[in-house]
Amino acid sequence: MKAAAMYEYGGLDVLKYGEIETPRLGPRDVLVKVRATGLNYFDIMVRDGRYRANPSFPHVLGEDISGEVAEVGAEVTGWTPGQPVLVYAAVGCGQCEQCLKGEVNICIRYRYFGAHLWGGYAQYARVPAANLIALPAGVGYEEAAAFPVTFLTSWHMLVTRANVRPGEDVLIHAAGSGVGIAGVQIAKLCGARVIATAGTDEKLDRARELGADEVINYRKQDFYEEVRRITGKRGVDVVFEHIGTDVWDKSVRCLTRGGRLVTCGGTSGYQVTTDVAYIFHKQLQIIGSNHGTKPELETLVKLLEARKLRSVVDKVYPLKEAQEAQAYLEERKNFGKVLLVPEP
Ligand SMILES: [Zn+2]
Repeated sequence: MKAAAMYEYGGLDVLKYGEIETPRLGPRDVLVKVRATGLNYFDIMVRDGRYRANPSFPHVLGEDISGEVAEVGAEVTGWTPGQPVLVYAAVGCGQCEQCLKGEVNICIRYRYFGAHLWGGYAQYARVPAANLIALPAGVGYEEAAAFPVTFLTSWHMLVTRANVRPGEDVLIHAAGSGVGIAGVQIAKLCGARVIATAGTDEKLDRARELGADEVINYRKQDFYEEVRRITGKRGVDVVFEHIGTDVWDKSVRCLTRGGRLVTCGGTSGYQVTTDVAYIFHKQLQIIGSNHGTKPELETLVKLLEARKLRSVVDKVYPLKEAQEAQAYLEERKNFGKVLLVPEP
C-alpha cells in the first residue's frame, strides 16, 4: 500500500511517501480502506520524537480515521466489505480494572492509532473490529475524520467529567483550537452560556458563529478581568482548560464558589502553581480528563448525524503531501481540521 510513513524521528523530511507493506490481519481485526485522516498536533510530537510510543520503524501516524471495511478477520462478525466506518482510537489491555469498567481511556496499557499502533497516513489501516463504529449514510468521510479526538476529548471533559448543566457559565480557552471548536459547541448544546477566548478577532468571530455568547481576545484583554466583568464579578461555573502554565492560576481565580476546572492537557507547559486557599475557601474542584470512551463517541456520531454538532474542516491534502499538511498545522494558522486523503 501507499503510505506517508516515518522511518526515524525528526523534521518534516522524515515523512516519506511510498510503498509499505499492507498490515496483516489477526482473527479479530478489520482492514479499513482509509478515506480520510484528521491531523492532530500530537502527530508532530510523535514525528519529532517528543512522544515516543511507537515500538519500531517504519511507523504510520494518524489517530482520526474514517474509511470503509475492505477485509475482515476470520473471527469477525457483523462487518462486511464496503461498510463506511469511523475508528475509535484507543485500544485497552482488556484485562485491567479500568478496561473491565469500560474506561479504556484510562487503561494503564492504553494504546492508540498513530502512536503505539499504525494509524491512518496510509491507504489501509488494521483496526480491531471492536474499535469500529458504523458511519451513518448522511455523514461524509471527511467530516467524520475531522471529528473523533477533539470532540470526544471535549465531550468527556464537559459532559462526563464536569457535568455542565443548563444555565451555567463556561469559559472555553483557545476556542480556535481543535478541542476549543468542539468545546464551544458542546457547552452550548448543554445549555450553558459560553465565554470563549482566542488570540485573533477573526477566530473570535468564528467562535461566535459556533455558538459562543461572549468572546475575549486574550492578546488585547486580560481574560480574568473580562470574565469578572461579563459575570458581574461572580466568576464562571466551569473552566475548560488545556493550556496549562500560561493560564492556570488565573483560570482557577475565574471560578465562582463551588466551580469546576476541567483539564485535558497543557499546550504551554505542564507545571502550574495554585494558591490552595482558593480551592478550599471556594470549594473548587480540579478535574482531570483523558480522551473518552467508545460509547461516548457513538453518541457524538448521532449528534453529528442530527446536525446538532458540526466538524470544521480547514484544508484537505492528498496523502502524498503529508509533509505540507503537517507544515501547515505547525504554523497553527488553521481554524478547524487539516485532513489527509489517500489516493483511491
Ligand atoms: Zn486495561
